[in-house]
Amino acid sequence: MRIDRKRLEQSIDELGKIGETPRGGLTRLALTDDDRRGRDLMVRWMREAGLRVTVDQMGNIFGERAGAERLPPVMIGSHIDSVPTGGKYDGQLGVLCGLETIRALDQHRIRTRHPVTLAIFTNEEGARFQPAMIASGVMAGKIALEDAYNARDKDGIRLVDELERIGYLGAEPCVPRPFRAYLELHIEQGPVLEEEGLAVGIVDGIVAIAWSRLTIHGVQDHAGPTPMRIRHDALVAAADVVAGVRGIAREIGGDLVTTVGNLTVHPNIVNAIPGKVTLSIDMRDPRGETLDRALPRLDAAVREACAREGVRYELEHYWRVPHTPFAPDVVAAIERAAVASGARHRHILSGAGHDAQYMAAIGPAGMIFVPSRDGRSHCEEEFTPMDDIERGATTLFLAAVDLAGRV
Ligand SMILES: [Zn+2]
Repeated sequence: MRIDRKRLEQSIDELGKIGETPRGGLTRLALTDDDRRGRDLMVRWMREAGLRVTVDQMGNIFGERAGAERLPPVMIGSHIDSVPTGGKYDGQLGVLCGLETIRALDQHRIRTRHPVTLAIFTNEEGARFQPAMIASGVMAGKIALEDAYNARDKDGIRLVDELERIGYLGAEPCVPRPFRAYLELHIEQGPVLEEEGLAVGIVDGIVAIAWSRLTIHGVQDHAGPTPMRIRHDALVAAADVVAGVRGIAREIGGDLVTTVGNLTVHPNIVNAIPGKVTLSIDMRDPRGETLDRALPRLDAAVREACAREGVRYELEHYWRVPHTPFAPDVVAAIERAAVASGARHRHILSGAGHDAQYMAAIGPAGMIFVPSRDGRSHCEEEFTPMDDIERGATTLFLAAVDLAGRV
């Protein structure tokens, strides 16, 4: 039993045209007109496949294929929004492999005990409205509906107003719904599978993440008349912190990754000593205990860097997500499916957040990774070979049949 590779490839091409960039990437920000066109196409395909389509209060789309019994569904989900000048695979591939699973069930005339539901989550990327994964977060009860509705994009437009404008402000309550299993296929967004020549990653869980923000207060002054000996330069201290953050990963080693990704300099002009710098620190590791060791080192690195330059600072550890382990029975079903599909595979952890993270808070969840060329994603060069997609999609299909129970 296999999926239809040609049909899947055609769907990837067709959905990929909506919001396509001149260089073959994708810009389809959440709740824009292109997002609406993408949703409309998905809903049309879902209805053509005989699914019962509903939309909830967060614009999440669900299409249910009935089961033989009134049982909670096996849900297959991901997202179709993208980052600006992103790729055609992140999110979209998971949704389309889910749709292909449904089409393959019909083609092989398979009846399942549990229903099989395709889910498309709103604003996963967080590129337009923050935070990321906002709609699965509301569904899991981790984000208040009111807060999500009031999230504004950079032009001050509210999420709820855009949901209404594009016609996807649904009536169904966005609350935890029972499911037999939640499955999500996604590109790896890292280099491991490609380096090892593997088609499928069986995801055991999502790494623990800690975010901090640092504000350094120096003394803004003229770059000319101010002698070096009396300077208190916020950016010099920040540079030390950036190097220190890299040093934490070097010292602790293992799988710990540390990043300063955002840095704002004030007044950020050529002839003024920087008076104020804010910067972000992102630290991730499979084990939460590693972050417990890394955070005090960050405190020390900041304290020492700021003392050397004689500047004040505020350091805030404001967001922490624990390691999310996926459900052993779902992971085992994915492994059986990977073996049956003939895909070369390994177990892997996700270094990025996904809707599956919130779904794992509601019920048994698992993920399937397929390779990313050169480990790249969130860029126009994002690419996964069709051979790997076929094996990943077959793994998803077989896992869904396994978990939904063939009648
Ligand atoms: Zn994604």
